[in-house]
Amino acid sequence: MLINASTKLCCLIGCPVAHSVSPQMHNAAFKALGLNYVYLAFEVAVEDLEKAVRGLKAIGVAGFNVTIPHKINVMKYLDELDESAEETGAVNTVASEDGLLIGYNTDVYGVMKALEGFNLPKTKPALIIGAGGAARAAANALMKIGFNEIVIANRTIEKARQLADWIKSTGRKAHFHSLDRLGYIARGCGVIINATSIGMLPHANETLLTSKDIPENSIVLDLVYNPPKTKLLREAERAGAKIISGIEVLIHQGARAFELWTRCKAPIDVMRKAVLAALEAEYRESSS
Ligand code: NAP
Repeated sequence: MLINASTKLCCLIGCPVAHSVSPQMHNAAFKALGLNYVYLAFEVAVEDLEKAVRGLKAIGVAGFNVTIPHKINVMKYLDELDESAEETGAVNTVASEDGLLIGYNTDVYGVMKALEGFNLPKTKPALIIGAGGAARAAANALMKIGFNEIVIANRTIEKARQLADWIKSTGRKAHFHSLDRLGYIARGCGVIINATSIGMLPHANETLLTSKDIPENSIVLDLVYNPPKTKLLREAERAGAKIISGIEVLIHQGARAFELWTRCKAPIDVMRKAVLAALEAEYRESSS
């Protein structure tokens, strides 16, 4: 890749960002299409967010991703929000359009694409474990797909109640629970989405559900993507459920961002290959 005075900048801002594989995913995609873009990751502390966003705008950034802990706070420094960000109340992608910074939530699209092609049991309730930003994006995706009943289970019950209230405000049915009776709740659901960080490396042997609580023929999506096949997904497979790795969400949210920044069709297979190679390299490094 030749970096020169015309190279366009895309980046990630968050804290921490060291383990992100988005630079590998996007740079592989730019290279595959011969686009003069580069993607970097910047660690931005909470107190520096406004300065960072204004600085990126001033230097003419093409676009950027936003991760923990800035997905909500970044909204007040943007010029406009698209429908996905407005509805979800969080931004994970910003695109510069005619000099204005527009906020999007491409996690919603990522979850919808990851579930595409499965025979989704929409007449049964769907379960989301977690009530943070990713859970909110997952809930929005499920509603857009046509689910009318969503159960939220979260460690902090107040946050589960808030998410359930938002779902109810759109006219759908929603219930909220703590994690106490998660197994019992899961047994009645057709789609199960883990939107907590449980199971992520270095705690790859943790899961909130085991095979005895996962219905056969249910569809289980784990938003955790490192490792690609989490303990939850292994338990789900043992139960006879269909499984979807968080990698699919990562790739599709990234593909949508790539298309917003470049107006070119994202090379999905290149992006998937780059993500898997980056995760494998990280795993080898951590276990050596
Ligand atoms: P967040 O807003 O910080 O929410 C974290 C959620 O995890 C909360 O519901 C939290 O519960 C729960 N949690 C954390 N530690 C827990 C524990 N020890 N026991 C039980 N619950 C726990 O984070 P987020 O942005 O929603 O992200 C959640 C996960 O999704 C992360 O692993 C993230 O990497 C992943 N994600 C993946 C993609 C993708 O592309 N695949 C996209 C977005 C997010 P409390 O409310 O009780 O704190």
